[in-house]
Amino acid sequence: MGLEEKLPNGILLATVEGMVNWTRKASLWPATFGLACCAIEMMTSGAPRYDLGRFGMEVFRPSPRQADLMIVAGRVTNKMAPVLRQIYDQMAEPRWVLAMGVCASSGGMFNNYAVVQGVDHVVPVDMYLPGCPPRPEMLIDAILKLHQKIQHEPLGPVRAELAAERRAQGEKL
Ligand code: SF4
Repeated sequence: MGLEEKLPNGILLATVEGMVNWTRKASLWPATFGLACCAIEMMTSGAPRYDLGRFGMEVFRPSPRQADLMIVAGRVTNKMAPVLRQIYDQMAEPRWVLAMGVCASSGGMFNNYAVVQGVDHVVPVDMYLPGCPPRPEMLIDAILKLHQKIQHEPLGPVRAELAAERRAQGEKL
């Protein structure tokens, strides 16, 4: 007989890591940040038809201090890249980045001097979403996959090391 079966009804067993990650993934707050046409689909995802609020993230925050998810929705120009990096730096740890659409992921069809060929040249990316533009269902699918990733992230010193590694990566960029 397993331990759970010996416990009275109403008792749940979980690890601290599992509980913390569960609350983190269930309350992601995206930064209000759209760069091009993909942002229209991102905004649609928050509207009643698709209702991102179902996943605890209807609050797009106007301040990076209150946001822990950056959805890069659209192409990133070289002029915009330092601004994007500054917004990322102003977000507190833990924080995650989702590259929405082919332009944010790789520059897409804009292979020219003005456009960054993938936002991972500027900030570390946790999830890439292809498409031009990805539909709201695709964005929601990417967010749910990010949830799975967050659920299995380590806490404590390992998480701190990961954050330091990312900061160092950003300084090199
Ligand atoms: Fe616009 Fe397509 Fe680029 Fe998205 S991927 S920003 S829809 S051109």
